[in-house]
Amino acid sequence: MIEVTALPALRDNYIWFMANGREAVVVDPGEPEPVRRHLEHGHYHLKAILLTHHHGDHTGGVEELLASSAGRTPTVYGPHGLLPHLPLRRVGEDDAIRLWPELELAVLAVPGHTLDHLAYWGGGLLFPGDTLFSAGCGRLFEGKAGQLFDSVERLGRLPGATRVYPGHEYTLANLAFAAGLEPDNALIAQYASLATSARMNQQPTLPTSIQREHDVNPFLRTREAAVHAAAERHAGGVLDGPSAVFTILRKWKDNFTMNQLPA
Ligand SMILES: [Zn+2]
Repeated sequence: MIEVTALPALRDNYIWFMANGREAVVVDPGEPEPVRRHLEHGHYHLKAILLTHHHGDHTGGVEELLASSAGRTPTVYGPHGLLPHLPLRRVGEDDAIRLWPELELAVLAVPGHTLDHLAYWGGGLLFPGDTLFSAGCGRLFEGKAGQLFDSVERLGRLPGATRVYPGHEYTLANLAFAAGLEPDNALIAQYASLATSARMNQQPTLPTSIQREHDVNPFLRTREAAVHAAAERHAGGVLDGPSAVFTILRKWKDNFTMNQLPA
């Protein structure tokens, strides 16, 4: 039985901690301390580290975790080109990682937020890093909007029941944007109220699910009439299809803050 726990890190990152018996695997350790504390507390042995992309808030803890592993060095999996001075097991599209006999993760190349971005999917779990957030998606740092659109759509085609463990706690801010686009979407309102109570109790709003993201995430709802119309109003012209809607939403969201509800 594999358990997944959120370790809050830095400002709003999550390091995902998978445990199977006394063996542990972490995803995107942006800093070492939360992982070390959790390992010690549960007497776990860190067997592997999975990295989704090269940003420091996802990789900053790797070196110290390797240095402090005392003989039982965890295997680090990550994209080609990442941390060239470290002995990474470099993976990409079509690779699979068997973490335990009962859990194999497929490696999916999902460029857009960064060009090297990977997601890990298997056993009903998805670790999308900064490609897909609850009710949102990553910013474009390196890729083109069309690339990120394809990556987000690809994750959206995974089974609805898939539990999704993104790299950041951005749900409430994302839902404020989503609610502005679709004021009549009751599922967004319901989820916002659940997410607000979770945050008030210092609980993560995550994991989410692919099905829930189809219900609330504007970046997976670019075919919905209300989302399309809101994007066209914002763009001041006709938008030809879901990828064009996605591109406008992504730019709009970059400049969106809680006080600037979309109209
Ligand atoms: Zn990032």
